Amino acid sequence: MTPPRTFVNSPLARIARLVLNKAPRVAMVLGQTVHLSGATREEFLADPEWVAHEEVHLRQVRDLGLLRFLWEYLLESKRVGYYQNKFEVEAREGARLFMQRRRGP
Ligand SMILES: [Zn+2]
Repeated sequence: MTPPRTFVNSPLARIARLVLNKAPRVAMVLGQTVHLSGATREEFLADPEWVAHEEVHLRQVRDLGLLRFLWEYLLESKRVGYYQNKFEVEAREGARLFMQRRRGP
């Protein structure tokens, strides 16, 4: 799997970080790039579960298109919050299954 493209010290990810109650590190998918704040590319790539989580978001953006993804993501967040947001649920589940497969039977 090719590692995803990243953009470090992203001002947009920094805003998201502040909105998410000063989360220590944030990744945010815009187009097919993972925007990072509070983490280097090396730190991000060293965490396979985190990469797998963002890979799911990259796929969601490819499936829906960026604008529709952002719009539906915001609606979901407003409706059920961050944790129960269906895009986050799918990304967490995808990352969990990825780690399970990686560990093997
Ligand atoms: Zn996520």
